Amino acid sequence: MPENKTGIDIFECRLCGECCKGFGGTYVTRQDIINISTFINFDPEKFIARYCDKSGSRNVLTRGKDGYCIFFDKIKQCTIHPVKPYMCKAWPYIQVILDHPENWNAMANSCPGMKKDVPDKDLQKIVAAEKQRLDNPSQDISSQN
Ligand code: SF4
Ligand code: SF4
Repeated sequence: MPENKTGIDIFECRLCGECCKGFGGTYVTRQDIINISTFINFDPEKFIARYCDKSGSRNVLTRGKDGYCIFFDKIKQCTIHPVKPYMCKAWPYIQVILDHPENWNAMANSCPGMKKDVPDKDLQKIVAAEKQRLDNPSQDISSQN
């Protein structure tokens, strides 16, 4: 693998829609609910009742009868792409990989966009950088100047 590796070296979404079948459920934060409601012009106070189910203490997006996320369309894919939940934006650069990089290959079994057998050292460096980019977009811009 070349030096200065970035996310594209280990992941490129194939737009297969597998992750939108919601293994484990797509949880939404309060900010996600506000963003999505604004985007679809819906009352955020009614969002949970209309678009969510409970998974433990968390609200997750409801799935349709076909098992896909309520916002998934087989042709258009994610119909709320610009405001999709943090969890969807972050995949696969997630905290659990920083804590347990050994989970990467298991995740890759469900996601054909993920390259397998990336050395842990490279994996954690790339995931940390991509997560930082998502969590602190303003810092990322300044770091590029
Ligand atoms: S499963 Fe992976 S490759 Fe397929 S749509 Fe989801 S993120 Fe992209
Ligand atoms: S919000 Fe979009 S990306 Fe996330 S699971 Fe639903 S359809 Fe897929």
